[in-house]
Amino acid sequence: MKLFSVFTILWVIIISCSVGEEQNVTTLSIHSSDFFADTNQVIKTNEEWRKILTSEQYYVLREKGTERSFAGEYWDNHRSGVYNCAACSTPLFSSETKFKSGTGWPSFFQPINMKNVNEIIDNSNGWTRTEVVCAVCEGHLGHVFNDGPKPTGLRYCINSVSLKFEEK
Ligand code: FE
Repeated sequence: MKLFSVFTILWVIIISCSVGEEQNVTTLSIHSSDFFADTNQVIKTNEEWRKILTSEQYYVLREKGTERSFAGEYWDNHRSGVYNCAACSTPLFSSETKFKSGTGWPSFFQPINMKNVNEIIDNSNGWTRTEVVCAVCEGHLGHVFNDGPKPTGLRYCINSVSLKFEEK
């Protein structure tokens, strides 16, 4: 009987945990499947990218650079719309998930579609971070941290230079 009670309690804990996870999924009013990047990967040589991108875009997107905080175009942009990849135009983030982080870089609590971004472990500069890249052209976007707001608790810290805003 005692064993049965233990199993019952464990079962209740497992169920309540999984319910909690489901509540973490945000529903955007823009349906995210509309923004699935169904195109093939965009692969170009460095020379080709240099011709397409500005020197600042090349530095951030192709050389994994970082723009100065509070200096980019979008950290304080409050208009409604979609942020596309500046290199290949893949939709990456919605204004609906943008929040004021105080960092001076545009910050979002989730991508517009998880399939449109890839995450890479980044051990540069002596610490471990999670780099975020465009899934289509592999351009560097920024990093994702675990100190974001609800509902995901994530903070996608993105360079303005990697984005092209499209007002809706
Ligand atoms: Fe891209």
